Amino acid sequence: MRAMVLEAPGRPLRLAELALPAPARGQVRLRVHACGVCRTDLHVVDGELREPVLPLVPGHQIVGRIEALGEGVSGLSVGDRVGVPWLGWTCGDCAPCRAGSENLCDAARFTGYQLPGGFAEATVADARYCFPIPAGYPDLQAAPLLCAGLIGYRALRLAGEGRRLGLYGFGAAAHIVIQLAQHEGREVLAFTREGDLASQRFARALGASHAGSASAAPPAPLDAAIIFAPVGALVPAALRAVRKGGVVVCAGIHMSEIPAFPYELLWGERVLRSVANLTRRDGEEFLALAPRVPVRTTVTPFPLEEAGRALDALRAGRLEGAAVIVVDPPAP
Ligand SMILES: [Zn+2]
Ligand SMILES: [Zn+2]
Repeated sequence: MRAMVLEAPGRPLRLAELALPAPARGQVRLRVHACGVCRTDLHVVDGELREPVLPLVPGHQIVGRIEALGEGVSGLSVGDRVGVPWLGWTCGDCAPCRAGSENLCDAARFTGYQLPGGFAEATVADARYCFPIPAGYPDLQAAPLLCAGLIGYRALRLAGEGRRLGLYGFGAAAHIVIQLAQHEGREVLAFTREGDLASQRFARALGASHAGSASAAPPAPLDAAIIFAPVGALVPAALRAVRKGGVVVCAGIHMSEIPAFPYELLWGERVLRSVANLTRRDGEEFLALAPRVPVRTTVTPFPLEEAGRALDALRAGRLEGAAVIVVDPPAP
């Protein structure tokens, strides 16, 4: 099979010919149709996440069809269309796993990081972490649901019930979360890099009541804020923007250093928290909700061999919505 491979952090992905993987016990092999590109892929490729298993096939928003079953797999069949998210394996036995917080599993393994990912014509995945894809979504439009959507959904839940929601960074996750939030009757305000008028226009087109620079104060205090951009300086900015008792959620897996800030920004029972990974329950809930909203994703397709160019476009902030690697489109 053809695959895009990371040999060392900081090096460009290389197109390689790899042996077709055989599914181990509990795994399935997928023929990959599409794989979303996530900011976490950038953190892996750039070496900001330090435990990749090399050489690595990145990509953790995989949509494909099952073409082989390993031993002991039940509930899935050859031909099923499924999606594979970032959380790819948990132990089921540590304290977080037993408490229903498998997203915090002490031994968790992640797709496209410690497990093979989807920038390839085929991959293997733990059958427990394969989600059926809602029928109304073509492969390309479904791919961003698997991380941008799922992590966005979990971040929105952790942000609480506040009606005025600020989104910091308006990329793949925010363009899905705004749809979920509006479906729940919330007002959404978008905050971007200074002068990023394209993202601000995109946010307004999706219904944001305000779209402006993150360095400026919102027109009125926020009830909650979700920070998607990996920029530590946004933490004090978002704390300054939320009301007393408001919540600030950091939704990324990596962030630049958070600058020191005065205690009064946190005072007044403001809450600052992160969101880590996802649970299978998040996946089931979100993939049931998405077609009811209905969440519509905006995607820019790239062929497999141009995965590096997709990562560059994401790094440069040139994308509207999500980049998706198109691997093996099914015959019409
Ligand atoms: Zn565990
Ligand atoms: Zn991701």
